[in-house]
Amino acid sequence: MDTKTRVYLDYAASTPVDERVLAAMLPFFSETYGNPSSLHYFGQQAEAALEEARETVAKALHCRSEEVVFTACGTESDNLALRGMAFLQKKQKGANRIVISPVEHHAVSSTARQLADEFGFEVDFLPVDDYGMVNPEEIEGCLKADTAVVSVVYANNEIGTINPIAEIGAICRKRGIPFHTDAVQAAAHLSMDVQRDHIDMLAIGAHKFYGPKGIGALFIRRGTSLLPIVTGGSQESGLRAGTQNIPYIVGLAEALRLAQEERQKHAEHLVPLRDALISGVLGSIDKVRLTGHPTKRLPNHASFVFKGVDANTLLMLLDMQGFACSSGSACKAGTPQPSDILTAIGLSPNWALGSLRVTLGKDSTMEQVQDFLKVLPGIVAKSRKQE
Ligand SMILES: *Cc1c(COP(=O)(O)O)cnc(C)c1O
Repeated sequence: MDTKTRVYLDYAASTPVDERVLAAMLPFFSETYGNPSSLHYFGQQAEAALEEARETVAKALHCRSEEVVFTACGTESDNLALRGMAFLQKKQKGANRIVISPVEHHAVSSTARQLADEFGFEVDFLPVDDYGMVNPEEIEGCLKADTAVVSVVYANNEIGTINPIAEIGAICRKRGIPFHTDAVQAAAHLSMDVQRDHIDMLAIGAHKFYGPKGIGALFIRRGTSLLPIVTGGSQESGLRAGTQNIPYIVGLAEALRLAQEERQKHAEHLVPLRDALISGVLGSIDKVRLTGHPTKRLPNHASFVFKGVDANTLLMLLDMQGFACSSGSACKAGTPQPSDILTAIGLSPNWALGSLRVTLGKDSTMEQVQDFLKVLPGIVAKSRKQE
């Protein structure tokens, strides 16, 4: 079986680079190769491309271009937001608490944990419901005078649930506490508007929306100060040192522009496939549950748990049949621990260890979904431990 006959159902882990994005990037490897900080013609050309990309990203997020900082990935953007804000708030006003949801990506949760274990911060967790959704009404009680930053994932990578970000943002704004959201998954599918949603910091990463890996951006609202975590030159307004990766920045900007422009078209294609997948799985297999919200979920995202199933066996058998899926967070494959996110939504290990995430993309077809639904019941039965 080659990559042509295999079926990729893991678009939440990464996506192929759109050919239009690749075409936009290519001239910046060997034609326009100057350092954007250089004063001469070559530098000016690179700087013009950089600033045009920044403008494009700003338009997509509804912010000013000065509010966009390019980083090396979504993870780095989350790190800059959390660390940069925690350290500065501690220095300026002795703020010592970080508020996060229990369903954050590791880019946020492991950063918060390190800030707690090594730097003396306290982490407060917002409660979530069985769908992994934060209830805005419960936030107020978690905010203290010494809360440095609040971070809530926009749309969850593992279970697809979309959080009520605008309402959470409004509460943080009212209390004067900086609000960060990890929109790395969301930016591929949902409209992004940092004004509407009262967001102070927002992280994205290009490879989740048909851009290249290894490039990200962070929106930082004007007037919001951060301590930089990568120090050196004065690039990116002194917030992220290092010569900017112009081809990848151009690629991120073009990919984000296309993702936002074609959002509705993609959703119209994806939602019927997702819904056929969900009803097919729930209707043909027993001891199965959908994880995440039934409707307030990403248009390409289906995720399940099967009681008494070993997720790694399930994934391996699916791969042997040519279907590439995930058991949740890709970084965790191989670990026999149940996922923190599935545990946080109240699943016991005999359910949580049998998780399956199927995420669709613009090249997915109904035929692929039907083929998948044909093989899945047999594979689940095979990977179910004898009771
Ligand atoms: C993929 C992902 C990240 C990490 O982004 P990278 O660009 O791969 O570092 C962070 N948060 C969420 C929700 C993600 O899905």
